[in-house]
Amino acid sequence: MLNTNRANAAPASADHQPVWEHDHDIELLRGMLANAAPLVSPEDIDALRHTLRDAPQDSLVLQLGDCVEDLSEATTESTKRKTEAISTLGTALRHRPGGILLLGRIAGQYAKPRSTPYETVDGETFMSFRGPIVHDVRRGSRHRAGNAHRIATCHLASQITARTVASYDAAPFLTGRIWTSHEALLLDYEIPMVRESEGAHYATSTAWPWIGNRTRAIASPHIDFAEHVANPISVKVGPDLTPQDLVQLAKKMNPANDPGRLTFIARYGRSRISELVPLVRASAAEGISARWLTDPMHGNTFTNHQGMKTRLIDDIVAEAVGFSKILRAEGVPVGGIHLETTPEPVQECVWHRNEEIDPARYTTGCDPRLTTPQAQQVLERWELA
Ligand code: PEP
Ligand code: MN
Repeated sequence: MLNTNRANAAPASADHQPVWEHDHDIELLRGMLANAAPLVSPEDIDALRHTLRDAPQDSLVLQLGDCVEDLSEATTESTKRKTEAISTLGTALRHRPGGILLLGRIAGQYAKPRSTPYETVDGETFMSFRGPIVHDVRRGSRHRAGNAHRIATCHLASQITARTVASYDAAPFLTGRIWTSHEALLLDYEIPMVRESEGAHYATSTAWPWIGNRTRAIASPHIDFAEHVANPISVKVGPDLTPQDLVQLAKKMNPANDPGRLTFIARYGRSRISELVPLVRASAAEGISARWLTDPMHGNTFTNHQGMKTRLIDDIVAEAVGFSKILRAEGVPVGGIHLETTPEPVQECVWHRNEEIDPARYTTGCDPRLTTPQAQQVLERWELA
């Protein structure tokens, strides 16, 4: 249960949490967050949950945005560019009869899980980049110490961004607004932002949090956190999750089997997407109510000849199409798609495997993102298949 009695501290057993430089600072920040205004109100969270509960079977969720947000983009102008791009991409799916629900990886996507906790450069060892909510992206122990005050900066950035996102009016065939989402990873941020309203607890850092593929173990503090909040919740699922564990996870997170509460986001990679079959089958056989999204990004990352992390458009399309074929064959609705995107003219994902990337146009803080034209192409080819 949420440990409000221990100053909202992240449980020591939580994975992918940073080491903070000063214990006193993180305690201070947790205390302030516990008194801060919610970024999303419990009423709005309920409204989103009801929208999802009542959504037609052929409705689609379009979840788009940065792998990690850049603090320098927490401005009204930059956020407007992002919301306009999300809405433009929504129009690529406008013929969808069940409607489109737009969701940004935005207004709080500031923490990252990493495969290696430390990096060593020139004999100096320091924390891997865990996002701007923990430290600076620059290399070196001076920059990479865990600075709790960054939580306050990211909270302010999220407030600016969330306000701009909320003021955006989407086209009428879209659901009218763009909802916020991010990975609920940094528990020293997420737990103190929980608020109680009419007997229920709400994660007020975002409308629709997700639990990442690396922190979704059944007994993990992240799943425990998600279980005890009333928001709609997504869980990323990848090749190491068994059908039994998926079913167990669904029963734990959504014991009443409420429609709209739980979403699975499958991220297998083009070559392994067929491994999703037994999970979809087990979930359908158990009568589990869950929306299924495809994330065709995170299983398709490779290092190119320049040593840069990238993704091939054809791989992304192939996984998304493969996902839809599996769901249709199992008689389960395709619930949407989750992509990493930016409105900026970057060159991070590639059209051809040997494409030369211009380092000046590779600006992501973590994973390679699709540009709007690239994402448009992915959505069109996915929708046509
Ligand atoms: C992400 O969405 O940026 C991410 C880390 O994904 P996953 O949990 O699927 O690896
Ligand atoms: Mn990512």
